[in-house]
Order: sequence, then structure tokens, then C-alpha cells
Amino acid sequence: MIEFRNTEKVYPNGAKALIDINFKIESGEFVFCIGESGAGKSTLIKLITCEERPSKGTVILDNYELSRLQKRLIPNLRRKIGMIFQDFRLIDSKTVFENVAFAMEIMGASKAQIKRRVSMVLSVVGLRDKADHYPSELSGGEAQRVGIARAMINNPGLILADEPTGNLDPVNGEAILALLEEINRAGTTVICCTHDASLVDLMQKRVIELSNGRLVRDEQRGAYTDCIAEKELSFERSDEDITKMDEAIYENIHYEHQQRQAKRAKQSAEIKSMLDEDSRKRRNRLSLAERIAKMRMLAENIEPNNPESTASIVDLEQ
Ligand code: ADP
Repeated sequence: MIEFRNTEKVYPNGAKALIDINFKIESGEFVFCIGESGAGKSTLIKLITCEERPSKGTVILDNYELSRLQKRLIPNLRRKIGMIFQDFRLIDSKTVFENVAFAMEIMGASKAQIKRRVSMVLSVVGLRDKADHYPSELSGGEAQRVGIARAMINNPGLILADEPTGNLDPVNGEAILALLEEINRAGTTVICCTHDASLVDLMQKRVIELSNGRLVRDEQRGAYTDCIAEKELSFERSDEDITKMDEAIYENIHYEHQQRQAKRAKQSAEIKSMLDEDSRKRRNRLSLAERIAKMRMLAENIEPNNPESTASIVDLEQ
């Protein structure tokens, strides 16, 4: 899904942020990108989102060579990626619902679609009850859960999280990573940049480590430190939350089913009217042909389907 091939990034001021980077991430993987501050993690993310272009080498995403991607296509690419930031980046003047809905509005979704899907995604992150709250009324953990809801609203194939737990206490940090893991298990590729050693150690996922712009480690079940303490992370939900989530998912499936049926009915009505139009034209053509035949017969003074008349033609010809 993602490949860095001999990729380098040198900023105009001469800072070498990435040097000869080579790795591949398959669809559906969960990868931690770790390293000290200044190691090149953010630059790596920026190359995937085309905020920056490589100075050398290539970055390939879903068979597209990003360095060759036309500027006008960059927004399309970004819509397929869910982004999560350390500082949440919520819009203060919008409610939780509106913050999440915004990403769907940009995609041109209908109001009904937005309402149903936002409610469902908020129930997944356990925030359906806070839909009308403003960001200033949320805790850090809740704000980041809104960030996750916003990142997953358009069902992206890839989620890029840049220090998602950087502003959170360990308990909330674990909850965020547990949610990311759930999303990953459902099929979304996740790349999570962090220097939160304890979480990396807990999760035992693939670790890509950068140091001074170089890739110094790529390990399948890696850890930040030597002490390995694997723990199953889970995002706790009350029974009531789970019921609400199931209801929301059911509502969405039902709604999508209805939408599909309505679309199919519309399509078959369109096909029927096309066929009607076609057969009307054919009828018209036939009647025109009949008219021409009649005209010819009149000109030849022959009545249609009259064998005697036909005989008289034969006679004439003879
Ligand atoms: P990290 O995310 O791991 O902290 P960055 O990718 O932000 O690392 O930075 C890697 C290196 O590139 C650092 O030396 C940083 O100073 C430099 N750098 C990052 N962004 C820019 C920029 N826009 N202009 C110049 N240098 C930059």
C-alpha cells in the first residue's frame, strides 16, 4: 500500500530530514514510527500526504507515485487519508457533531447521510452524548476521540496519527491506541508516529525507527525498550454504549440498504423509460416503414396482402 524507495528529503535550508529511506507497508498493517524529536517522523507523514515532496527517490501509495501526482489531485488523495494530530485540531466554534460532520460535508454527502453516519461514529468512540458540546467543554481524551471520529468518518483506507497521545495521560493514551487498534482490526491501515515508549511496548506492533533522518530499525513485533510487557488494550464501553452503538450501526445498515433500494428502483425506472423510448421509436420507425410500403403499393396500385394484386405485378413484369 505504501512504499518509500530510496527516499530523501532535504529542506531548502539544507536540513536533511530523511536520508535513503526504504520500506513497504502492506494494506491492513499497524505500524509505529518512532524516534527522537527531529528524527524525521513528521516529514515522513508529510511526504505521504503530499504536504512535502521528496528531494530524491519516490513515495508510492496504492500504486500512485506521489512525486508525480498532479497538484489538482492532491485533495482527492487527502480525502482518502484520516489524520489525527497531537493537538487535536478541532474547530472551536463548531460542536463535536459539526466537527465530525464537516469532513463529510466537504465530500458532498447528504444531510441525512451525515446525521446517521456521524451519530454512528460518535457512538463508536463513546461520545454520542457529547455531540452538542464544544471542544472547550471536552477533556483531552474526549477531544482526541473526536479527532478519531473525524479521521474515520469517510471510511479511509489509511489513518496517519502524529503523536496522538502526546497531550494525554497514560489512561487516555491507552484508550486512544485501543480505538486505533479496533479501527485497524476492521481493515484500515494505521501509521502512528510516537515517542510514547510504554504504549509501543504494550502493543507489540511493527516498529519503524528513525534516527537523524535514517531508518535504523524495522521490526515486525517491536518495542521501544527492551522490557516487553504485552497487554491487551481495550477501549471500555458500558453496556448502554454498546447497545447504542449497535443501534446506530443497525440504523446505518438499514438506511444504506434503503438508499441502495431507492437507487436501484430509480435506475430500473430509468432503464424502463429508455426501453419505452426505444420501442416507441421503433414503433415509429415501423409505422414509417409501413407508410412507405403503403405509398409504394398505392403508387403501383396494389393493395397489401392481396394475392391477386401481387399476381398482376408478376403479370405486368412478364
Ligand atoms: P520529527 O517529527 O521526528 O520531530 P521532523 O520531520 O519534524 O522530525 O524534522 C526532521 C528534521 O527536519 C529536523 O532537523 C527539522 O529541524 C527539519 N525540518 C522539519 N521541517 C522543516 C522545515 N519546514 N524547514 C526546514 N527544516 C525542517
